[in-house]
Amino acid sequence: MSDFGGAVKPLSENPEYRMAILGVPFDEKSSYLRGAAGGPAAVRAVSTGKCYCGYTELGVNLEEETVLVDLGDVDTSGDPDKTFALTEKAVARILEKGAVPIVLGGDHSITYPILRAFARVHKPLDILHFDAHPDLYDDLYGDRLSHACPFARILEDGLAAGVVQVGVRAITAAHRAKALKHGVRMIEMKDIVGPLHLRFANPVYISFDMDALDPAFAPGVSHHEPGGLATRQAIQVIQELKGKIVGLDIVELNPTRDPSGITAAAAFKIIKETAGRIVRPS
Ligand code: MN
Ligand code: MN
Repeated sequence: MSDFGGAVKPLSENPEYRMAILGVPFDEKSSYLRGAAGGPAAVRAVSTGKCYCGYTELGVNLEEETVLVDLGDVDTSGDPDKTFALTEKAVARILEKGAVPIVLGGDHSITYPILRAFARVHKPLDILHFDAHPDLYDDLYGDRLSHACPFARILEDGLAAGVVQVGVRAITAAHRAKALKHGVRMIEMKDIVGPLHLRFANPVYISFDMDALDPAFAPGVSHHEPGGLATRQAIQVIQELKGKIVGLDIVELNPTRDPSGITAAAAFKIIKETAGRIVRPS
């Protein structure tokens, strides 16, 4: 069962929670392989307090210093439009409480409805986007809501003041043109030589596509793109960043390609360290 290192508390006793886990088991907008719908269950399964404690590396005790609940999964049994509407609504409900959503995907298409909910509460908002791919396609195979497109939609709708992409390494000329047009800062994998020290003036939302990590560290993703971030590098970026984190999604974990569970463990670790930075910003 899921308890996030012992940090998850029962919702019935904690209606005034500070942080909420929400699963979106959905992969119908995946262009290549299905399987990401199993992501939320895989993260919950690996997060057990039998294996992990509630302390982050920076010394935050998530059991004591916040109130974290698990709201379960969005109903994804309907068509994609319905799933997106329900996702937007569920995230909006968490934000109305003044709490921080931690959303478990699912493929990356879910970030667009999540950000639609955020834009109504947090404006201006910055986004820190970890990914091997910029996800800036106008459409993919005619689908404008594909998991390859969420950041094109987010930028066109003006849902973000600034977007910083970290770890990108599969970029087309059209992506570059789109990034330039919208002022997206791409920190390309080929240019990362040392630790990154990022600073955000506005509240920052983190969208973490697990394929940002090198497939040697995180094989459980649909698109293996070698030459990516070490798990340690990604954690370092989160631990070092200056700014107020107001939300997180962790997407594209595909348990069918993760027999050892190491990718789910990396996802859990990233969630945990991010949660610690939400509790204690700098
Ligand atoms: Mn992505
Ligand atoms: Mn990706």
